[in-house]
Amino acid sequence: MPEPPLQLGHICPLSVGSVGLAVLGSPIKHSISPQLHQSALDEMAGVDQRFSQWRYDKVEVAVERLPEALTQLAELGYRGLNLTIPHKVEVLPLLDQVDEEAAKIGAVNTLSWENESWKGYNTDGVGFSRALKIAFSRSLADFEILILGAGGAARAAVAQALFEGCPKIGLLNRSTKRAEELVRVLQENQFSNPPEILSAAEVQAFLGNASHPLIINATSLGLKESDPSPLSLSGLPDNTCVYDMIYNPAQTTLLREARAASFAASNGLGMLVGQAARSLEIWSGAHVPISAMERAAKVAS
Ligand code: NDP
Repeated sequence: MPEPPLQLGHICPLSVGSVGLAVLGSPIKHSISPQLHQSALDEMAGVDQRFSQWRYDKVEVAVERLPEALTQLAELGYRGLNLTIPHKVEVLPLLDQVDEEAAKIGAVNTLSWENESWKGYNTDGVGFSRALKIAFSRSLADFEILILGAGGAARAAVAQALFEGCPKIGLLNRSTKRAEELVRVLQENQFSNPPEILSAAEVQAFLGNASHPLIINATSLGLKESDPSPLSLSGLPDNTCVYDMIYNPAQTTLLREARAASFAASNGLGMLVGQAARSLEIWSGAHVPISAMERAAKVAS
């Protein structure tokens, strides 16, 4: 049975020599990050005893308590943090140091205690890129991408695709305002080829004209088993690939329909593992056994 989340104000100081890692979010109860990290740390401890003293917790932190959480956890001996909903963008004004890529993406999912303060990184984009290579044996530069959604996850995916030279990105979001906001942030951050905002009626032509179309679901639609697909897949080219960032449930309606149409399709578990592995690499400076994380993710999800 997974441990319940820790609550701020009720976290014990770590013993001497211990290093604390944690994921902060709200709600955080369902996060499987502790299982992924612990399985990698257990294997790393076999090579370097130091890592037997590292532990990874999940902490329930509402958005208004993030500043207090960062101070408190640093004082208690935590040295690495992951951030999830709703903290990835809100954390930016609280940081003195932000890695260049994370600053361009405009979102942070990893904090590392460096030179007596938290430094922000973004490992979602790298995790996403790695997962796509594994799922479809192609890199982001080889696709024309339709991204569904314009939240934090979409922002990291679009920025990563642009870093890697993706030739064309279309963006479809429920609210146009949020899509425009995403494009504005990317332009402000010097991306020269930001996505084209599409209406639902324009999607078919965008995908039909693509030589290697890739659809990415970065919306929350699909998190509930009963959710409909965010997009109709009828009439799309045979070589369409579909990546759903959702990993629980393992098969969303979108993925079921993609497989029924014989499209290559994958859920978001690989992205979760990829971002976790990169975060642990940043904190530990050591080789991270990604296969241990993959095994733990399959058991936990
Ligand atoms: P945000 O809350 O920042 O964004 C949510 C997005 O989903 C918005 O674009 C929102 O549209 C859209 N949306 C929400 N409900 C609906 C709906 N009913 N119909 C259509 N669109 C909807 O979340 P994140 O960007 O952080 O996460 C997005 C998804 O990616 C989630 O499912 C999350 O689980 C997954 N994810 C997976 C990761 C992985 O490692 N595999 C990592 C991070 C996220 P609008 O702007 O109109 O509100």
